[in-house]
Amino acid sequence: MKIIFIGPPGSGKGTQAKRLASRFAIPHISTGDMLREAVQDGTELGRQAQPIMAAGGLVSDDLMIGIIKERLAKPDAGRGFILDGFPRTIVQAEKLDGIVGNGTEPLRVLQLLVPDDAIVRRITMRRTCAQCGAIYHLENNPPANDSVCDRCGAEVIARSDDTEEAVRKRLESFHRQTMPVASYYESKNILRKVDGIGPVDEVFERIEKSLA
Ligand SMILES: [Zn+2]
Repeated sequence: MKIIFIGPPGSGKGTQAKRLASRFAIPHISTGDMLREAVQDGTELGRQAQPIMAAGGLVSDDLMIGIIKERLAKPDAGRGFILDGFPRTIVQAEKLDGIVGNGTEPLRVLQLLVPDDAIVRRITMRRTCAQCGAIYHLENNPPANDSVCDRCGAEVIARSDDTEEAVRKRLESFHRQTMPVASYYESKNILRKVDGIGPVDEVFERIEKSLA
């Protein structure tokens, strides 16, 4: 299974990708996680990427392609993989074709569809415990006692980057980047769109069906 997983931030894509990875026993390759780890570990890649990420910029196509090429050459990716966060540009998508295009297993591209308004609602209603990290949702899963954490009694707060304005901004830049990539795969007839609204289990079932 060679899967590219596309979905807006806050759509539950990370959760679904992890589940899919364990279902098929293939690695979940998140370029965001890889970059953060590289910066943390102070590797050569991390040193190159750190100033760009700190300035809120996008890491160059060449650098990203290098990272992915190296990662996909590792033995655990031999049976397949789920790419999360890559490719972000047409150049990256074309280079990826060159890297994986010769295998017998076809590339499958999953696009998780969740309307912006649903994501905004989901994220702006989210509250996190400042102490233990427990996550609540004011509508679906509120703490029993106002803004007090059920688990540890500390204060439950909204993250500063979970405002509607910040979420809409992230979504806008996601759409701007991703639309051309999704169209690229659509024109190759390998894009599968999956409705991402609903309980995690139901969405996962839809994803499995779309891969069958
Ligand atoms: Zn807590």
